Amino acid sequence: MSERAEACIGCLLWESGRADLLESVRVHIEKIPAAERTAQALYDDRLAVCRACCHLIGGTCLKCGCYPEFRAAFRTQRCPVKKWQVYKEE
Ligand code: SF4
Repeated sequence: MSERAEACIGCLLWESGRADLLESVRVHIEKIPAAERTAQALYDDRLAVCRACCHLIGGTCLKCGCYPEFRAAFRTQRCPVKKWQVYKEE
């Protein structure tokens, strides 16, 4: 019998018990060029919004099918339902 984490409403990948996926996402985030990466404060703000969002199930955004940890790491990315603060050039 395979083990499968229960889908957790409001859980990011790192909270959902999907350590294998989280490691893969971390590797991909590290490959994002610094010029394209979201500043830590904005990244944290975005993920806090996702954690409170009804569309986040088991670490996946059901509106776009992404892992918010990854999508939020690109500074010009947007939430599909416009809940995130949008990056603005300084
Ligand atoms: S990206 Fe937007 S819609 Fe998706 S979980 Fe985050 S806040 Fe919700």
